[in-house]
Amino acid sequence: MWITNGTVADVAIVWAQTDDGIRGFVVPTDTPGFSAREIHKKLSLRASVTAELVLDNVRLPASAMLPGVRGLKGPLACLNEARFGIAFGTLGAARDCLHTALTYAIDREQFDRPIAGYQMTQQKLADMTLELGKGMLLALHLGRLKDQHAITPEQVSLGKLNNAREALAIARECRSILGGNGITLEYPIIRHMNNLESVFTYEGTNEMHTLIIGQALTGLPAFR
Ligand SMILES: Cc1cc2nc3c(=O)[nH]c(=O)nc-3n(C[C@H](O)[C@H](O)[C@H](O)COP(=O)(O)OP(=O)(O)OC[C@H]3O[C@@H](n4cnc5c(N)ncnc54)[C@H](O)[C@@H]3O)c2cc1C
Repeated sequence: MWITNGTVADVAIVWAQTDDGIRGFVVPTDTPGFSAREIHKKLSLRASVTAELVLDNVRLPASAMLPGVRGLKGPLACLNEARFGIAFGTLGAARDCLHTALTYAIDREQFDRPIAGYQMTQQKLADMTLELGKGMLLALHLGRLKDQHAITPEQVSLGKLNNAREALAIARECRSILGGNGITLEYPIIRHMNNLESVFTYEGTNEMHTLIIGQALTGLPAFR
């Protein structure tokens, strides 16, 4: 379920349990038995299609199997790369939200003063600026570790969890600064907010990254 571009792709990379452990397969999407069904009514990440893939008695030549990758290491290595990118991408969305809210708050007047001049609005703007800055420093630090080939999957979890969570919180807070205007697509905030809901869930849910960090700290897996 939930495979991005599943109905438009020419090949699918499928990781499957075999007698030889988990192996990767390159599956041409015109293989008999392969079908993809688009998931409709999404209110998040609407710019890309998302699909359910069905493999019914699909038969492949041995050459379709990815060589030299056994076990969860292959898929997890792919995910580690994508999750690292998400630690940055979420901040771009948060930055756009904050910029929009700040500009709006300076323009919008209530009782003859910009709403940016009220202490509660300034509290929101200051707190969000702090979280955005902390997220950027975290992402930058992880990038430097990656350059040194010293980054661990648990550190990537810290970045994905924190930056997706805080970007979503920033988007929600920014939306409140725009009042009613915050819920329209005239402004980018609600679009970022809805998209960040998917980012909160994919590439390892918020809960899974929490458990990865919990395991790293305690040595105790709490996944089941
Ligand atoms: C728009 C979109 C695009 C996507 N694109 C792709 C893609 O291209 N490729 C791909 O492989 N996947 C993709 N995904 C899938 C995404 O990774 C999954 O949706 C995600 O991993 C959650 O799985 P699930 O939806 O089955 O939720 P579930 O596993 O049913 O989880 C539901 C909730 O229960 C929690 N939960 C589940 N198990 C536990 C547990 N043991 N302990 C504590 N909490 C638990 C989860 O954290 C979550 O909060 C996409 C998802 C979306 C929404």
